[in-house]
Amino acid sequence: MSLAVAGAQLEGHPVGLRAEDGVIAELGPEVAPRPGDELIDATGMLLCPPMVNAHTHAAMTLFRGFGDDMPLMEWLQNRIWPAEAKIEPQDVYWGTRLACLEMIRSGTTRFFDMYWFGPDVARAVGDSGVRAAVSSVLIDQLDPARGEAMRPQVLDWLDRIRKAGERVVPSLGAHAIYTVSPESLAWFAELGAEREIPLQIHLSETEQEVNDCLEAHGRRPAAYLDELGFLGPRTLLAHGVWLDDAELELIAERGATVVTNPAANMKLAVGGVFPYPNAARAGVSIGLGTDGVSSNSNLDMFEEVKLLALGQKQASGDPAMLPAGDALAIARGQRSQALGGTPLEPGQPADFLLLRGSDPELSAGDLDADLVYAAAGSVVDTTVVAGRVLMRDRVVPAADELVAEVRARAARLTR
Ligand SMILES: [Zn+2]
Repeated sequence: MSLAVAGAQLEGHPVGLRAEDGVIAELGPEVAPRPGDELIDATGMLLCPPMVNAHTHAAMTLFRGFGDDMPLMEWLQNRIWPAEAKIEPQDVYWGTRLACLEMIRSGTTRFFDMYWFGPDVARAVGDSGVRAAVSSVLIDQLDPARGEAMRPQVLDWLDRIRKAGERVVPSLGAHAIYTVSPESLAWFAELGAEREIPLQIHLSETEQEVNDCLEAHGRRPAAYLDELGFLGPRTLLAHGVWLDDAELELIAERGATVVTNPAANMKLAVGGVFPYPNAARAGVSIGLGTDGVSSNSNLDMFEEVKLLALGQKQASGDPAMLPAGDALAIARGQRSQALGGTPLEPGQPADFLLLRGSDPELSAGDLDADLVYAAAGSVVDTTVVAGRVLMRDRVVPAADELVAEVRARAARLTR
């Protein structure tokens, strides 16, 4: 299977691209289509790397617009948890399919997910054509016996996720230090190291979490996790709003990644912002995520990267903070080994976007700045993963059916 892109622009220069067996085979000004190639005429389009959504709960598209403008605990207790009590594996499959559709339409080709029924998430990712690290999830409400009882299911889900194909990476998802016992966290750390798979957890989203951790364990959240062996090069820490300098240094030393989620933090009014300048100074690996649709309320990484950059400028009082090029590199997963954001180069996976260069948002100015400050995901015309075209001319096959299916399921769950 081979694919050729002709007539595109890359960093201001005409370029051709050929992909074979899911990998970029050739890229350069002289590269021309060969007989038998599937051909994309990309005249007037801009070739660029895709986005990596480093933290989300994809199936929560089912709960979009359900309980907005509410305080976190009230929203969880009165809306989300009762609705989630009714959720079935097939709901998760279709909710994830819709999320994948939304990501394909807004230029995200890889995401890191944490939600119930991982095998159904994995199946949806496989059927959608994107890539994802899919979690087998554990929440034991701080009861180690309950955690122990969940272990066979965690292992079973992990095996089933692994079988979903080469675009799916199995992962372990521990909800947070206030919902998972230290015994279960330590077991996850051991299992993750043994299988060399990503570990995902929410960390330091609210100040309350830090205070509670200090009270219960006499140390701050990152130090607590480290003692349990949880911090390593494949660990993703979502949020990290309240990390202090010593924690950032520890995280950098262990090679773990902090994934910031500015839209969710703003929407839930957590009262702070990820300390990017300090994290960058400490050499922390950084990623960007949308979090779940329930707390965002979309999966558009173009919108997220703008909020990231603007939020950091605002918080630091420095308009030069986090320039567009750096913000884009974070959004593309290129500032963390664990996120697998690959450059456009021969030998790399054939994952790329073609943007509509004639769209008003991209019509003038520095491209990086336009992409961060002006564009939304709607500038994406074509999305390609592993050399396979998932969207062309903004059309994804069967999109209407997906929307209708999820609308019906969401109505049942939120009734
Ligand atoms: Zn989250």
